[in-house]
Amino acid sequence: MSVECREKIVDEPKTSPVAADLLAHYDAHARDLPWRVAPADRRAGVRPDPYRVWLSEVMLQQTTVAAVTGYFDRFVTRWPTVDALAAAPDEDVLAAWAGLGYYARARNLIACVRTVAAGHGGQFPDTEAGLRTLPGIGDYTAASVAAIAFDRPSAVVDANVERVTARLYAIETPLPAARTEIRARVAALVPADRPGDFAQAMMDLGATVCTPRNPSCLLCPLAQHCAARAAGIAESLPVKLPKKPRPQRTGTAWWIEQDGKVLLVQRPGSGMLGGMRALPDDGWSARGDGNAEPPMTGQWQRIDAAVAHVFTHFSLDLALALYRGPQIDKVAFENLNGAIWWPVDNIAGAGLPTLFAKAAAVAIQHR
Ligand code: SF4
Repeated sequence: MSVECREKIVDEPKTSPVAADLLAHYDAHARDLPWRVAPADRRAGVRPDPYRVWLSEVMLQQTTVAAVTGYFDRFVTRWPTVDALAAAPDEDVLAAWAGLGYYARARNLIACVRTVAAGHGGQFPDTEAGLRTLPGIGDYTAASVAAIAFDRPSAVVDANVERVTARLYAIETPLPAARTEIRARVAALVPADRPGDFAQAMMDLGATVCTPRNPSCLLCPLAQHCAARAAGIAESLPVKLPKKPRPQRTGTAWWIEQDGKVLLVQRPGSGMLGGMRALPDDGWSARGDGNAEPPMTGQWQRIDAAVAHVFTHFSLDLALALYRGPQIDKVAFENLNGAIWWPVDNIAGAGLPTLFAKAAAVAIQHR
């Protein structure tokens, strides 16, 4: 074999048998998602819009595709470009995010898109390292946007990919210690010619075939490569250490209504549900119970355990108290951060996060 010929073979993109089988399956079965460019279109030269890829990846953190799809469609209809979203007022974006949870993501989303608009000419950086410099973009999002939007050979490891990989290689080390090995295994599999499709194919396989319970090994394109399947231990992987029990917190929200309007406040910019519109409350947090002290004197009707809500790190039993006192004076009103009167019959338009939307629904039944 000539030197030139050897060099040509070495230079050709390598695709492992695992990646080749996975990509063939993806070509036939890729999920149709509103932020995705189908594999055939991608091969025909259609490039994904980095703005849509980034937006979808931020929304999908800790959240299912089913929950995200409607939000994604509404966002891109209302704000179709980086510049449009960057110019949107904070409260509009936060209200549009309401119900999607993990509200720090919405604040980071605003900071990130404004940085891209003002500091990068409206274009997302096209490398993992460049993306990581943006506010709110961590290792995972940088890797996924770099791979999917720009076909960079990044190892994209979300919970689905973690599960597929732990099973494929029968990795019995518990999470999170197993993550280093999982990442290295994925990195070794990423094909040079289709890294974006490979990342999405792994995610799809974990979401649709290699599911947490009852994985469909008989339908799996990786079955012949899979060590966990061969050992009959697929469903027991990945191994997870038992979770610490969630602390239980209590708090109270205050429903103050007059002339058909309810008093809403704006929560502080950082911390739980930061920057969101909300009912006033008594200062509960992940670290402690609320103090149950109402924001003003007067008669209150208390409804205990009105709403039970589970956050990532704690559970909250939220009581509700309805104000039955005289008209609110101006000083009491102005003492509350960002206070506004909001029409009760349009409470759905206030963009309350789920916890307070549930509390408002209970209050409306008891008013
Ligand atoms: Fe998952 Fe089964 Fe496929 Fe292995 S063979 S990757 S366990 S679905």
